[in-house]
Amino acid sequence: RSKESGGRRVSRFSPDMDQALRHRLQLEVELREAIGTDQFGMVYQPHFDRRRNLKGYEALLRWNHPTRGAISPSVFVPLAEDSGLILALGEQVLRQVFEETRDWRGVTVAVNVSAVQLRARGFAAQVMRIMAAAGANPRGYEIEVTETALLGDDQETVNNIDALKRMGFAIALDDFGTGFSSLNVLQRFSVDKIKIDCSFVAALGAGRGSEALIEAIVNLARGLDMVVVAEGVETEAQWDHLVKAGCRQFQGHLLGRPQPVSTINRALPDQRRASAA
Ligand code: C2E
Ligand code: MG
Ligand code: MG
Ligand code: MG
Repeated sequence: RSKESGGRRVSRFSPDMDQALRHRLQLEVELREAIGTDQFGMVYQPHFDRRRNLKGYEALLRWNHPTRGAISPSVFVPLAEDSGLILALGEQVLRQVFEETRDWRGVTVAVNVSAVQLRARGFAAQVMRIMAAAGANPRGYEIEVTETALLGDDQETVNNIDALKRMGFAIALDDFGTGFSSLNVLQRFSVDKIKIDCSFVAALGAGRGSEALIEAIVNLARGLDMVVVAEGVETEAQWDHLVKAGCRQFQGHLLGRPQPVSTINRALPDQRRASAA
């Protein structure tokens, strides 16, 4: 990764790489300036149960850059993590989500949290302060963390997860199956939900063993009393397979795309069923 190369070695890079590095640094400068502004906003993607009843929403961050247009979180979140900016950005996310969703009833709201935030001392207390200031209640909220965030023996991460659980947040393990040593993570942290990564769903029917992997994950979760969520459901064929496999919740373009808060506020509380897509 480019991080390991000191500034002086940049001259040894190909012109292309040099340009990539400049672009990255420029984007980081712009990210720093954008934090705290309304260039950042949340969209909310619904998830449903096996009967296609609405269960809740996942809050997803969007960067609407004034000149570059929409930038994906898979581009700028890693950048924000490497530069430490994720702490300020993550705080903005929490504030906005709690304020926007405070009055939603009968649905859960999931918020993605970075490994860097989880490692920060006092993160759970900060979540509680932001929540209280927004007048929201931890019941009904889920914190999504990736399995790699729970790797290693980081004591602050353990403390923060424990504290969040005591406060009433549910914990969901995101992108399950893409990281390492999933099994001991499951044992050490009592997570409530496992989200099967989109890549496994996308590979269904492709002869790459996704069926067996998904079956194994569902069995594992059943034994540990965890809810399995399938992400990235795009087709009825995937839906059928995942329902039969025993997944309990479903998220994906087949069922609903991420939506701005105004759309959801207009639809709740009638929007209890997925619009027959
Ligand atoms: P994630 O948490 O696994 O979120 C699911 C991603 O899958 C979202 O991408 C969503 O738009 C996308 N998706 C949903 N349905 C489908 C589908 O049917 N097909 C396909 N191909 N994709 C689908 P998005 O919004 O671009 O977010 C990417 C990642 O960025 C997220 O993955 C999450 O790891 C991270 N992220 C997003 N918002 C935040 C945030 O507020 N804080 C942090 N720390 N990370 C965030
Ligand atoms: Mg997520
Ligand atoms: Mg995921
Ligand atoms: Mg992901």
